[in-house]
Amino acid sequence: MDIYNTLSGKKEEFISIRKNEVRMYFCGMTLQESPHIGHMRAAITADVLYRYLLYKGYKVIYIQNFTDIDDKVIEKAIEEHKDFREIANFYESEYKEASKRMNILPPTFMPRATQHIQEIIEIVQGLIEKDAAYEVNGDVYFSVKKFNGYGKLSGKDIHKLISGARVAVDEKKQDPLDFALWKKAKEGEPYWFSPWGKGRPGWHIECSAMSMHYLGETFDIHGGGSDLIFPHHENEIAQSESFTGKQFAKFWVHNAMVNIKGEKMSKSLLNFIPVLSLLDEYSPNDLRMYLLKTHYRSPIDYSRETLNQAKNAMERIDTFLEKSSEYPDEGNFSTESHIQKFIDVMEDDLNTPKAISVIFDLVREGNNAIEKGESEKIYPIQKTIKDLLNILGFQFGTKEKERDITENLIEYLIRLREEFRGKKEWDKADEIRDFLSQNGIILEDTPEKTIWRKKY
Ligand SMILES: [Zn+2]
Repeated sequence: MDIYNTLSGKKEEFISIRKNEVRMYFCGMTLQESPHIGHMRAAITADVLYRYLLYKGYKVIYIQNFTDIDDKVIEKAIEEHKDFREIANFYESEYKEASKRMNILPPTFMPRATQHIQEIIEIVQGLIEKDAAYEVNGDVYFSVKKFNGYGKLSGKDIHKLISGARVAVDEKKQDPLDFALWKKAKEGEPYWFSPWGKGRPGWHIECSAMSMHYLGETFDIHGGGSDLIFPHHENEIAQSESFTGKQFAKFWVHNAMVNIKGEKMSKSLLNFIPVLSLLDEYSPNDLRMYLLKTHYRSPIDYSRETLNQAKNAMERIDTFLEKSSEYPDEGNFSTESHIQKFIDVMEDDLNTPKAISVIFDLVREGNNAIEKGESEKIYPIQKTIKDLLNILGFQFGTKEKERDITENLIEYLIRLREEFRGKKEWDKADEIRDFLSQNGIILEDTPEKTIWRKKY
């Protein structure tokens, strides 16, 4: 199998370090916003790689972290007058809800940064001892000029970076490119005790500590969105390799962004579409189709039109599966060449658009067979389509429908409650809230809409 490695800038044959076992780490969400379709793209990219490696027979240890402490989480906590843990819990459960509905396989472990403070402190201390980092008055910085390979992932020229960088007035860095490994706690901020006083980890070191803790000093694949290449992943490499003296990750896999009108979807640009609200209108399969119809390394320009195209594509498949469901398993029509083509394109850096077009070739052939009365072809074609869709993580069967009705009812009640609130009939609105609460559903009113989640 070939995978594009950002580190070398080309497709390389993937050979796992350990026989039949792959260890991979994907950067997860910073828990300060609702998961949007851009986050889901990263999660689905990792999910399809995970599923495909499992299909190939590998044992896979797959880690996806949660960043539950960093500047943005603290900012959000201050903004909402809440404890940072409350903020993190809320968005973690939203993310888990979204990924469950999207049929994303749970990673082997989903650690939170705050569960690994001890490991983080040990690495920071090790880096100071190796003279790769220095402490200034409670802050600890990584010294970029001490690491020779800086820039090797992003292809950035360190000299150009230096001339373009500026040191903010309040920073105590020796060099503009140096980055924080440990931050001294400001008044009112959460903190942990460390050899440098009360403080908290910087964002980059969290991922180094978590990945090495679960996967070892050198592991197979590290991934995430392409917006993380610099500085996040560049810094992860610098600090990890300075600490161990070994190569950190062999393969670096990055998915392109979901853009809106040419700009990256993000909370700060106020142009993000929460995936849970998209799931009111589109099925998980529609959204998966939408994301996988584009190769993971090409940007997606978000539009209703392309979403609806994906929905229609899914409908064409569903219609065939329904029409063909009555045909018995008879004869011996072979779909082997289609399966081989599917595998060939997946082996070529997970080319899901081509893999999906193989599935549509089969749908076309199946429809022709129904028209021509070639009934012996229909069952094998139908079964192959399901098998291939399954490898890509599409889901079928009644389970989804059963869950949908519960969710639909909850959303119906929320709309009813909004109507009552609109008419100032507070008693009735509260009755609905209480009823849902008694049934384990918590409502949270935000300025834009009411969000619901399950009670633990
Ligand atoms: Zn990370």
